[in-house]
Amino acid sequence: MRQKYVVGNWKLNGSLPGNETLLRAILAGVKPHPGCHLAVCVPAPYLAQVRGLLEGTPVAWGGQDVSRFEKGAYTGEVSGAMLRELGATCSIVGHSERRALFGDADAIVAEKFAAARKAGLVPIFCMGETLDERERGVTEEVLARQLDAVLEKSGAAALDGTVLAYEPVWAIGTGRTATSEQAQQAHAFLRARVGKKDAAVAARLPILYGGSVKGSNAAELFAMPDVDGGLIGGASLVAEDFLAIWRAAVAAG
Ligand code: PEP
Repeated sequence: MRQKYVVGNWKLNGSLPGNETLLRAILAGVKPHPGCHLAVCVPAPYLAQVRGLLEGTPVAWGGQDVSRFEKGAYTGEVSGAMLRELGATCSIVGHSERRALFGDADAIVAEKFAAARKAGLVPIFCMGETLDERERGVTEEVLARQLDAVLEKSGAAALDGTVLAYEPVWAIGTGRTATSEQAQQAHAFLRARVGKKDAAVAARLPILYGGSVKGSNAAELFAMPDVDGGLIGGASLVAEDFLAIWRAAVAAG
C-alpha cells in the first residue's frame, strides 16, 4: 500500500511574518503520521526561515523549481545542492506555470528532474494537459510526451523514490477541479506507462493530483486507487484549508 502525500506550493506568495503565522498554525494542527507525508514548497528566499520553523517537526520543506545546472554563470538560478544545503528534501519540477511562462520545455524539465535527483532531492514531477488539449481529446498523448522526456533521459529506475503530480492546467487556480474519475484515469494512465518499463517502480510510485484541491473535494479525490495525495496551491496558504486536506489524506491512508 502506497503512502499519502500532501504538498503545498506557495508559488510567489509569502512574507516573513505571514510565513511564520501560517506555519505555526499548520504545526498546531498536525501530528506525525507514518502513512502520510506533509511538505511545503516555498520561494527560495524563505528556505532558511522555513527551516528554522520546521526542523524537527512532521512538516518537510522544498523548492518550487531547481536549476538544470550545478554551478556557474547562470544568473538567477538556484541549484539542487543549494536547496539541499537549506534542508530541502524535495523540489517541484515541470510545474505548468514554469512550462507556460518560463520556457520549461519537456527536455529542460527532464534535465531539471535529473539535476534534482543528482542533488539528492525528491523531484515532484508535474505533468498535465491544457483545456484545449483535453477538449481535442489528446490528454494521454500530452501526458505520454511529458513523461517520456524524463523516462528517456533518466530511465524508469530513476523514478523510484520520486513523486509524480498530475495537474490539469485547466484546474490550476481556477476553482475547477477534475472529477475523481478524470483524475483516476490520468493517474492510471501514467502508472501504466511507467509500468511498461518497470512494473515494480510503477506500483510504488506516488502520483499526486493538483488543481483546485480543497477540504471539500480532497476526500473524494484521495479515495481513488491511483491518487496518492495532492499538490496544493491556493489552499496551502490558509492553515485551516491545508489542514482539512491533510486530514482527508490521513483518513484515506
Ligand atoms: C498548483 O499550483 O500546483 C496548484 C495545484 O494550484 P491550485 O491548488 O491553486 O489549483
